[in-house]
Amino acid sequence: MKLPHLDWVNQDSPYLRQHLQGFRLLNFAGELEQAFKRYHIGVFLLRMRWALLVAMLLILLFAVLDAISLPPTIRSKVLALRLGLILPMLSITWLATYRRELRPYLQLIGGVAALFTGLGVVGIIWIARRHAFALPYEGIILVTVFFYFLTGLRFTTAALCGWLTFLAYLAIEVISGLPGQVLLYNAFFLGSANVIGSVGCYFLEYATRQNFLAQGLLQDMAEKDFLTGLLNRRAFSERAQRSWRQALREQHGLGVVMMDVDFFKRYNDHYGHAAGDEALRKIAQVLGVHARRPLDIVARYGGEEFVGLWYNLSEEHMQGILERLRSDIIALQLPHVQSDAAAVVSISIGLAYLVPQAHQRLEDALRLADVALYLAKEQGRNRVVCKRPGNQES
Ligand code: GH3
Ligand code: MG
Ligand code: MG
Repeated sequence: MKLPHLDWVNQDSPYLRQHLQGFRLLNFAGELEQAFKRYHIGVFLLRMRWALLVAMLLILLFAVLDAISLPPTIRSKVLALRLGLILPMLSITWLATYRRELRPYLQLIGGVAALFTGLGVVGIIWIARRHAFALPYEGIILVTVFFYFLTGLRFTTAALCGWLTFLAYLAIEVISGLPGQVLLYNAFFLGSANVIGSVGCYFLEYATRQNFLAQGLLQDMAEKDFLTGLLNRRAFSERAQRSWRQALREQHGLGVVMMDVDFFKRYNDHYGHAAGDEALRKIAQVLGVHARRPLDIVARYGGEEFVGLWYNLSEEHMQGILERLRSDIIALQLPHVQSDAAAVVSISIGLAYLVPQAHQRLEDALRLADVALYLAKEQGRNRVVCKRPGNQES
């Protein structure tokens, strides 16, 4: 699939990497595969539920048909398979779709149920053959189509169930001594159903994977900064507001931080804009390393300014992190002969440390962090300055 505007996405995006790399074997790299599995369940959960309901209803109708038409010698055995094996397996899977904690295992549970359904139907034909009752084998074709297109099983699981059922069917027909010509035709029909199902199911999963990547790419475009891959300002605002409300409710401390590269105009003028971009990327990488917990956020605020929020740390701990962050930027050892602050690229950091109160807004904290940053610049740059609301800087 050709996707437009791929050059607008941050080039480190895992979605972009996977898109360019391709996924013909229906497999994504690393964590993306886990994320896809969760996405897949979300997309197919409703279909799976309905498919199972329809299947259970059809099994019941077949059971009625069995009760009416089958000779008494085999009736109870066939009904035992339908109502004692297939129906319970489908019901258990249907119930499992309502248990959130079972979602990661739904492919496995669904796969086992599908296989038992297939083998159950093969068993019914086996019973009929042994009692010389001419039960049509086409039921297996129905079940096969059901595996591939209705259950929401992924390709590998569906194909495994479909082809194992096919083999089981061949085995019982050979054992029951079905005439060679008839067996050949039946095998050909059922084999074709499996080929059609496998190809269809492959492309269905392929398209689902494409959609997953396209959605991820769109989200990256909307939320991430193109150059550095950090969150952009809008995404920061949204997430920071969430953290702010949580900290207000739970009365936890927040470190709201503004950071700015020192003498960066001179850096660009001296080393060129491309080198400037590369420096921003490296700085962003260091920032990302220091904000790894789920509620910590760093983002590119614009230009050579970055913004961050750290959740539920003491002021000392917060200052420790920022001091390490500052020295890690120095440790990048990006020469900056035009800087009056250091021989290498450095950043100034303004920290507003506070426990949010009802009368305060996130914007107030950002403004305070900006004041602290201004002080850091004024005091010589390449340093961390902390301010608390209403207090002197510490
Ligand atoms: P100070 O220490 O006071 O912060 O000085 P400064 O030169 O860093 O501050 P100023 O705001 O005057 O200049 C910021 C410079 O950042 C201007 C611009 O050339 C550079 N800049 C902003 N965005 C980008 C970018 O995306 N890429 C590159 N290469 N440079 C950028
Ligand atoms: Mg600057
Ligand atoms: Mg600036």
